[in-house]
Amino acid sequence: MGIQTVAVIGAGTMGSGIAQICAQAGWKTNLFDAYPNSLIAGMSRIDAFWDKGIARGKTTQSEKDLWYANLNPVSDMAEAVLNADLIIEAVPEIPSLKQEIFSELDRLAPPHAILGTNTSSLSIADIASATSRPEKVIGMHFFNPVPIMKLLELVRHENTSQETIDFAEKAAKAMGKTSILVKDIPGFATSRLGVVLGNEAIRMLADGVASASDIDAAMVLGYRHPMGPLALSDLVGLDVRRDILLNLQKSFDDDSYAPHPLLEALVSEGSMGKKSSKGIYDWTTGEAVDRDDLPSF
Ligand code: NAD
Repeated sequence: MGIQTVAVIGAGTMGSGIAQICAQAGWKTNLFDAYPNSLIAGMSRIDAFWDKGIARGKTTQSEKDLWYANLNPVSDMAEAVLNADLIIEAVPEIPSLKQEIFSELDRLAPPHAILGTNTSSLSIADIASATSRPEKVIGMHFFNPVPIMKLLELVRHENTSQETIDFAEKAAKAMGKTSILVKDIPGFATSRLGVVLGNEAIRMLADGVASASDIDAAMVLGYRHPMGPLALSDLVGLDVRRDILLNLQKSFDDDSYAPHPLLEALVSEGSMGKKSSKGIYDWTTGEAVDRDDLPSF
């Protein structure tokens, strides 16, 4: 397959995790973000993850040193992608932004580079249309937290080549992931089910059907989900989930995907979930936010 260098575009929740596992796979990994503070925060998250691994005896200092040496924070996109064999984009779920980035990548990246997008719900074909190499564009949908979650959902659009699919499947394996191959349908195989369950749980919370922790316990204890739909929404990011729902609502022209007003209200007041310390849960205490303290909608 011959991957030497990988570039990850966007150093947020997902991009930092993707860069981490690429570095662990032994690839030279350039992590780029348009915002210096985000790049610093992304590097700190990786550092903290590895330190925790050392403290728990899951990894060693010398392993960390090796991985760290593979990782380069880069503040210039051209420099980040210069010699990249694989580029994985993880910027916010905004169609025009993804297209802009892919058009730039097409201009800056080596002709042989495979371009992956970590979009949760956008059309891969639309993103690929911003490039002159749609056959080299593939969805590479990782899960949060990236270093832990085993699944990599590969999404092929109509013109993704078999070589690109083969390459991505081998890369997935090298990163320690199990890949599934899915067609380019809005929401793919996972996001559609995930966001619908989360949105319905928020509707039930708003309707007073049960407390947040009881709604979550229903799915954990009754359906053996490892985490309840509300806690998971907080973990993923309420803004990210809201954006996915909006995209599904638009793509399918179906208002049943509309984000619940409580979800909109939480995002508007800046309660994004774990990344802002507060969402449906208060992540500093681990307790669900009191119902009276949730925003009105
Ligand atoms: P995030 O907001 O945590 O990170 C996005 C990063 O992109 C930020 O660091 C931001 O500074 C950076 N950015 C913004 N504009 C940029 C630009 N022009 N160039 C370079 N960097 C830029 O978001 P996230 O949760 O990591 O999500 C990123 C993508 O991954 C989205 O498409 C999302 O749908 C998808 N995704 C998210 C999850 C999740 O659980 N959060 C899971 C699977 C897929």
